[in-house]
Amino acid sequence: MPCQPPLARRANFDEVALGYTKEMAIQEAARCLNCKKPLCVSGCPVQVPIRDFIAELVQGNLERAYTIIKSTNSLPAVCGRVCPQEHQCEGKCVLGVKGLPVAIGRLERFVADAFLGSAPLPLKRKTVERNGKKVAMLGAGPASLTCAGICAANGLLVDVFEGLHEPGGVLVYGIPSFRLPKDVVAAEIGELRALGVRFHLNCVGGRTVMLEELSKEYDAVFIGVGAGLPVFLGIPGENLVGVFSANEYLTRVNLGRAYAFPEYDTPVFPGKNVTVFGAGNVAMDAARTALRMGAESVHIVYRRTREEMPARQEEIEHAEEEGVRFALLSAPLRFEADADMRLCSVVLQDMVLGEPDASGRRRPVPLEGRTRVFPTDLAIVALGTRANPILLEATPELERTERGYIRADQNMGETSIPNVFAGGDIVTGAATVIQAMGAGRNAGREICRRLVG
Ligand SMILES: Cc1cc2nc3c(=O)[nH]c(=O)nc-3n(C[C@H](O)[C@H](O)[C@H](O)COP(=O)(O)OP(=O)(O)OC[C@H]3O[C@@H](n4cnc5c(N)ncnc54)[C@H](O)[C@@H]3O)c2cc1C
Ligand code: SF4
Repeated sequence: MPCQPPLARRANFDEVALGYTKEMAIQEAARCLNCKKPLCVSGCPVQVPIRDFIAELVQGNLERAYTIIKSTNSLPAVCGRVCPQEHQCEGKCVLGVKGLPVAIGRLERFVADAFLGSAPLPLKRKTVERNGKKVAMLGAGPASLTCAGICAANGLLVDVFEGLHEPGGVLVYGIPSFRLPKDVVAAEIGELRALGVRFHLNCVGGRTVMLEELSKEYDAVFIGVGAGLPVFLGIPGENLVGVFSANEYLTRVNLGRAYAFPEYDTPVFPGKNVTVFGAGNVAMDAARTALRMGAESVHIVYRRTREEMPARQEEIEHAEEEGVRFALLSAPLRFEADADMRLCSVVLQDMVLGEPDASGRRRPVPLEGRTRVFPTDLAIVALGTRANPILLEATPELERTERGYIRADQNMGETSIPNVFAGGDIVTGAATVIQAMGAGRNAGREICRRLVG
């Protein structure tokens, strides 16, 4: 797929991957073998009928292809961009055994963009009759949005209560616009509004609305509040001015549009020498964002080697092409301040890989006496997240797991409170968009089975 060249894109927040043309999409779709038993579908957590939509695309029947995708996936333009397809549908495609799998994600994106992009094709919409039953969603991330879409399409009245001022969850506050443009998310949410879903923003479950009230007023409730509580390093100096969690940094830049100064005046710290701690997708997003915010140098600091980095290969390559550098086998010991108590450096411990730990990855161990001072004025900690606590603290009757997430039935998502369902990161811990959507879909189907039949 064509991309913006690295030097140009590191200076803007426009989308990096530019998408297929119609000719490219049909040429790629024509590689599909139309398998009798399409293994690709078994790799998709929401079971998009991949073979069938590709067959329609080859014939140029875009509307039929889109309707087929939408029959199980309410956010195809999002998934086509951010799903780790190499581990899902494309990882199972038979063509991948000997060569390149069909680029299913790119095709999904192409079809969705035809109806949601800048020059959308017209789309016939069915009208849905309401049956008088009501469902509430807490949180407006991919899990709730998927559940909302299914419930609304089946005639239920759906109210979504979101703590932030925009719906979308991580899709709007976490994933940067150069990977997932915000108008794409808004267009998918527009489809839900067109189905009759109502959004109540700036409305925090456990503060503005209580679960108990919602359970009385609605026939079912779905909780999809995500896992947005940042984990920190727990080392000296972490409270200095200039040390951020990746969540806060990305939220300021993405949701707060700090990149669009002076049109938006959200304050963000403009680092010159930036260090990012962690090596997952969130770390790559933070590092690439810092470059675009004008940093002179950006280093990813990671305790292990490149082989163990958990980020998607494509994200690592894109970051590297844009100029992000890696300080591998290095662990932070403490942050240091200048006379004004601003961050000025981080002391790093050199590491070496030892024996494998419980996860099977080789454990990093410190090399005694080998430390160095690394100048930095902006440090971004991207070590993972935990359950958002507000709703849980206000609702002690909601059963939790040992790890602090909501305990929910594996198949349909029902919690310890009858007719209260939960899914996505608040049940599994930080995972993926499509896994959250899969959970929202299962709960939505169960809610419809109970309320619609
Ligand atoms: C920076 C970043 C990059 C990522 N990149 C990818 C990627 O490329 N591909 C991928 O598949 N996954 C990616 N992920 C993971 C993915 O985004 C999440 O797994 C997914 O969004 C989880 O969906 P969710 O609906 O469970 O929760 P969320 O998306 O977290 O949404 C939860 C929503 O609930 C709201 N909320 C929280 N508490 C309350 C409350 N008490 N009351 C009301 N509302 C509340 C939040 O404001 C939020 O809008 C990324 C995550 C991050 C942080
Ligand atoms: S497994 Fe690959 S080749 Fe077979 S139907 Fe799916 S996408 Fe097409």
